[in-house]
Amino acid sequence: MVEEIELDEPGPHDVVVRMAAVGICGTDLHQVKGEFQRPTPMVLGHEGAGVVEAVGEEVELVSVGQEVVLSWAPSCGDCGDCRRGRPAACVPLHRAIGNGTLVDGTTGMSLDGATVYRGTATGCLAERVVVSERVALPIGAGVPLQEAALLGCAALTGVGAVLFAARVTPASSVLVVGAGGVGQFVVQGALIAGAETIVSVDPFEGRREQALRLGATHAVAPEDLNGALAEVAPEGVDFGFDAVGDPSTSATALRFTRSGGTAVIVGLPATGLRLDLDPGEFVRREKSLTGTMYGSEDPSVALPMLLEHVRAGRLDLASLVGPVYPLEAVDDAVRATLAGSPGRVLVSP
Ligand SMILES: [Zn+2]
Ligand SMILES: [Zn+2]
Repeated sequence: MVEEIELDEPGPHDVVVRMAAVGICGTDLHQVKGEFQRPTPMVLGHEGAGVVEAVGEEVELVSVGQEVVLSWAPSCGDCGDCRRGRPAACVPLHRAIGNGTLVDGTTGMSLDGATVYRGTATGCLAERVVVSERVALPIGAGVPLQEAALLGCAALTGVGAVLFAARVTPASSVLVVGAGGVGQFVVQGALIAGAETIVSVDPFEGRREQALRLGATHAVAPEDLNGALAEVAPEGVDFGFDAVGDPSTSATALRFTRSGGTAVIVGLPATGLRLDLDPGEFVRREKSLTGTMYGSEDPSVALPMLLEHVRAGRLDLASLVGPVYPLEAVDDAVRATLAGSPGRVLVSP
């Protein structure tokens, strides 16, 4: 639904970004489907790129006219996690995301005097957004805005899960459960890391074909996974990624991880879900199960690395751009995402 709302004037360290492309992420779908308890009305959207249109008087990091991708992890800079270089784990940030606000507790958006909330501390599924200069990260030359938008969530999350969270080793075997936006980037990250066997599993045929194009060595439907792995990794894979975040997909990633291997939950689970685990997986079989948020690295550190992979041709953004909808058709964009579009569905405001 499209509404005209009021935005507060940018503060001294804020910038106004004219959005060019915004991806529809699984996190947005959780909110649409009512799987999160977050306040409404809310402007969704946290994976976007655009052009800086105005800057507050003390802004130093970006200038008007610069192309930027938005990070949704502004972080407080002050809590233990931030000081340890894990801003995506920042406690005040997660409180803000749960409350539908920015880290300072405000939203800077209103409709007829009532507060409008922000999805994932961002809310950029709009023509314009006012954000801190610290989350508007310059893109530089050679990466079109529609492709750059994907860096803002799916690419950082998926590639970061491989490179910074799991630290996948060369010649290893990798299973990627789910071949949506994040899963496709886990596949690409595994290729960058030098994995030898990359098995993608997804119920949608279009997504499986895309995973194969992007570097998966095998792509199978869920019912064929057992048979496929019996052939290529009979003892299990070195690294199992759950790019969906459902208890059943997490269980699949863990089950097919070999003894001593690592399973990583990448997809964001809906609120209130629980895993049913066999402790023997961890004791007798010495498996590790871990999770990763937003690539487990400071976005301002990870993004330049990803841009380098893009420019060198190792990270493909272009073929992951799916259908692009105008802002008026945002509901169609959400429906296309729910229907399992093989490419990332974008809105071009
Ligand atoms: Zn996202
Ligand atoms: Zn913090």
